[in-house]
This record gives sequence, structure tokens and C-alpha cells, in this order.
Amino acid sequence: MPKAQLQYLSDELQKLREQKLYQKLRVLEGEQLPVARFDGREVINLSSNNYLGLTTHPRLKARAIEAIEKYGVGSGAVRSIAGTMTIHLALEEKIARFKQVEAAVVFQSGFTANAGTVAAILSREDIIISDELNHASIIDGCRLSRAEIKVFPHKDVAACETILREIASRPGRKLLITDGVFSMDGDIAPLPELAALAEKYGCIMMLDDAHASGVLGRNGRGTVDHFNLHGRVDIQVGTLSKAIGALGGYVGSTRDAIEFLYHRARPFLFSTSHPPSVAATCLAAFEILEEEPQLIERLWGNTRFFKAGLKKLGFNTGMSETPITPVIVGDAALAHEFSRQLFEQGVFAQSIGFPTVPQGKARIRTIVTATHTRDQLSRALSILESVAKKLRIT
Ligand SMILES: *Cc1c(COP(=O)(O)O)cnc(C)c1O
Repeated sequence: MPKAQLQYLSDELQKLREQKLYQKLRVLEGEQLPVARFDGREVINLSSNNYLGLTTHPRLKARAIEAIEKYGVGSGAVRSIAGTMTIHLALEEKIARFKQVEAAVVFQSGFTANAGTVAAILSREDIIISDELNHASIIDGCRLSRAEIKVFPHKDVAACETILREIASRPGRKLLITDGVFSMDGDIAPLPELAALAEKYGCIMMLDDAHASGVLGRNGRGTVDHFNLHGRVDIQVGTLSKAIGALGGYVGSTRDAIEFLYHRARPFLFSTSHPPSVAATCLAAFEILEEEPQLIERLWGNTRFFKAGLKKLGFNTGMSETPITPVIVGDAALAHEFSRQLFEQGVFAQSIGFPTVPQGKARIRTIVTATHTRDQLSRALSILESVAKKLRIT
């Protein structure tokens, strides 16, 4: 029996069950692979962010084990007290060179990198101009900063400029912020236009490149490199948890901006730094991005193949331009049922409904990786076809 004080949580949960919005966690039994075992069933895995298959790469595993032997399993302190290790700095230097920025700082996750940075660099007098589909970690950072938040419709450059014109004479700093690749639709931000607006109106330009790191640009350098905008985005955030295959987030900017974050970013100051093995893993991952660009080519080859297959089957794949491809079905209950039946037939593609995506835009989300074989993707397409026919989706 729950304690009386917590009964309301049980009631809320019951409501979710009644609305068919309750979701059980799927449990991965083994490694995160293109075909993996979840909940006792072998499925073609279209739900991970393991774009390049690095979560299980032998070189990354070896380097993690080596670092544990050499440095132990934990850092034992926050970065600003005793938890800055040589290997943390080596990773940050590697990232700064890779991203072609002056300096970089690593956080415990992409989430804390975004939220910690926005909250640290702005305050009550300032204004944030943010795409409506920006990631939750940006939204939380904006709220924590106490700055005023102005949201523009997704990728709507003209609407963004209207806001900037309206607030042009207002005092305070202005931050224009966007995801590079949007996580639910797989489309790419109009970064050249936004960077030009930031310059025209004197805004700080900040980019969250979580889904673009290791995916877009030369050797996976991200959206800035993809559009050749080096030097025109003031703050770039990336993640080490997706294509890089381990865990963490980073911020790239000027040396002084990074040193400011050492003093003011709360996750840096108040939460313990990465175990050295995580830093070692990430260092090896960046080496692989530099040495094996064919992995990224394979990712894009699979992306083109799978997208073409989905289109041929008549699915609504929205505006996707990247390995994230939604199959939009509209109704949330239908999306959940689609996902459930796909799973039973051997394909794991997560369903996503409101509030993660707008009402009426419920979908399943597919993500291909470099390590899927064409045979696996073809099988996934034929399972998608037969389940969709049964549910009258196509
Ligand atoms: C996944 C994601 C994050 C968070 O990254 P983690 O390293 O998993 O915390 C931030 N922003 C976007 C756009 C993401 O998709």
C-alpha cells in the first residue's frame, strides 16, 4: 500500500493507464546492437542513437578497460575541486580541435551541458529566442536562467526575425538558440539564416548539435561544418552519448567562455566528473571518426536506402533529412498499437505522442545505424509494410 502522502502519484499513474499513455520500460538484455534482445525478444533495433555502432566497438572497450586499470573507476570529486584528471583535459583538447573551436568543456551529459550553460550565461534581464521544437534540456536551461523566453515556430526564419526586430531596442543580452538536427523529425535547422540574423541583431548564437555530432559534416563534425559556418556560431553543444557511443556532453566556444563556465555552470561545480574510463572511451571514439569516415558513409547509405523504402511504401515521413525518420500516423493510440505490433513481429521502433510531439502528429520513430545490414533493413521494411496494412495506416 502506498503511503497516503504519495497516493496522488498512484492516482496520476492510473490516469495515464486509462488514457493508454502508460509505457512500460523496454529492457535490453545484452549489447546495444542492430539486432538486439529486448524483453526476451530478438528484434531489429530502430530505436537507439548508436549511429555508428560505437557502443560495442572493440577499441573503445579496450581503452575503457585500460583506463580503469590505470586510473580506477571514478574521479572522486567535482571538476572544480579535485575531480579534473589529465584524461578529462586530453578529451577536451581533442574535442576543441575536432570542432575547430578555441576550447571545450565536458559535462556529465548533453542535458547538463545545455541546461548548465544557458542558465549560467544569462539572467533575468536577458531574452532567449528559441525554436519551438528545441530539446527539453534547452527549455529547462532557459527556465533556470530566468530570462524572458520567446519561441518562434519551427524553422520559421521570418518569424524569428520579426521577434528580433520587436525586441531590438530592448536592453539585455539576446541568445538565439536552435537544435542542429531535431530529434523527433530528423530535419536540419536553417543555421546559415539564423547565424546571419544573430549577427544582424547582435545575438549570441547557440547550437545544440546532439543528433548531428558524428552524423553531419566532415568526419561527423556537425551542423556548423555541414554548412561551413566555422566561427559564426558562438556556442556549440554536442553529446558524447549518441554517435560517440558513451556518455556526456560538451560545450565548444572561446577559451574565456569555457573558463567562465568552469566558474558558473552548476553541473560542472556541483556534480562529480566522468569516470576516467568514459573519457578514455570518448577519446577513442574521436580517433575513429577521424580514421574511419567510411562508418559515416555507411550510416548515410543505410539512411538513403531505408528512407527510399519507407517512401515507396507510402508512409508519411515528414520533413526528415537525416538518419532519424518518423513514420507519422496522427493518432497516439494508433501509433502505440503500431509500435506494439511491430515489436511482436520483430521490429523495435518506439512510438511517440503528445506532449513530446504535437497533438495529431503521433508517430513511430525509426533510426538506422551504420551497422545495420541491408538485409536487416529490408526485413524491417517488409514487417512495417505488413503491420501497417493490417492497421490500415497505408
Ligand atoms: C539527446 C539530446 C540531448 C541530451 O544528450 P544526453 O547526452 O543524452 O544527455 C540534448 N539535446 C538534444 C537535441 C538531444 O537529442
